[in-house]
Amino acid sequence: MTAVHRRNGGRGAATCLLMVHRVVDRVDRAVRDHDTGSESFFRLVEELQASGRPFTTDPSPDPGSGASIALTFDDGTADHMAVAEALAGRGIRAIFFVSAALVGEPGYLDEAGVTRLSELGHRVGSHGLRHARLDQLAAADIDRELVESRSRLEDLTAAAVDLYAPVGGAGVPGLPARLQQAGYVASRSARWGIHTNPDERWAMPCLPVTELTLRRGWVTDAAATMRLSTRLAVLHAVKDALPGGIRTRVRHALSR
Ligand SMILES: [Zn+2]
Repeated sequence: MTAVHRRNGGRGAATCLLMVHRVVDRVDRAVRDHDTGSESFFRLVEELQASGRPFTTDPSPDPGSGASIALTFDDGTADHMAVAEALAGRGIRAIFFVSAALVGEPGYLDEAGVTRLSELGHRVGSHGLRHARLDQLAAADIDRELVESRSRLEDLTAAAVDLYAPVGGAGVPGLPARLQQAGYVASRSARWGIHTNPDERWAMPCLPVTELTLRRGWVTDAAATMRLSTRLAVLHAVKDALPGGIRTRVRHALSR
């Protein structure tokens, strides 16, 4: 019996959600530390495909299908169009969390782009309206973020928009109930981990794909074993416990 089976009560139901931001041609000091170079990204895709793990756009752990990978992309930036086409060409479908009010702005997908994601078979989810953190909004604006982003995106897509990813993974009290009320079925957090527990569907853990996490082998390890290495879990816990300013400096140091 493998570690995966022991961890999941013998069912093996687990989804490794990967969180990707921009996929850029060239990664240099000028780009943000969560960008990924397209060369590294597509090397990862090849490795994941070679591993034989299925890709899914339904992140809920399904005992019937065992362990799968859900590629998720945040922010709806313009570079995601080429990625979406390339993935579909390889038979892979992914989840794109789009900030609805940024659609059509410079550097972001336009309306036709969001429609195209859906036509290619990808799943479009909401990443709010203008990329504001929910914990920095007034109560009334939070519900507007959830409801209006969903309806704007559904106007552009054939399928329902019922997955959410709060900006920065930042939740607010009562968020699961508010999401449910707004018509969502699940939400991805920014907490590092493998999604094995259906009860955590309102804060599904994930693993960030960056030049750093790729270089360290953390992404391929997690996808292969369906668990985080102890070192990675400890590192993340330490990072979370630090005040914001120090956390940023640690993150920059780590990404060098
Ligand atoms: Zn974002």
